Amino acid sequence: MIKRGANKGLPKPHEAKVHVKKNDTVVVIAGRDKGKIGKVLQVFPRKGRAIVEGVNIVKRHMKPTPYSSGGIVEKPAPIHVSNLMLYCGKCKRGVKVAKKILEDGTKVRVCKKCGEIIEPKE
Ligand SMILES: [Zn+2]
Repeated sequence: MIKRGANKGLPKPHEAKVHVKKNDTVVVIAGRDKGKIGKVLQVFPRKGRAIVEGVNIVKRHMKPTPYSSGGIVEKPAPIHVSNLMLYCGKCKRGVKVAKKILEDGTKVRVCKKCGEIIEPKE
């Protein structure tokens, strides 16, 4: 690819960052599952997508194998992170987050509205 000035500053695919992390609680703000709240099970930063518990459920028809009887399996499919917002348990809604560094040096994300720390407990 020819390098152009216009592409300067854009993240390379392998450097792509998403605003959600595994175990985050997020709200779906667009699409079929709008308004749903779920836990992030997996993140694909390069694709900018994440799998959220109970969101974007697709039905897969499985053939019977010696290990399972087959049938219809429901599983969550990846959803684009731009459709997700971090959920603040205090505001009871999806919120924008700010970064904050605690006294011990730990970086945390906090709710821009109420200042509550939004980090998965684990
Ligand atoms: Zn809040």
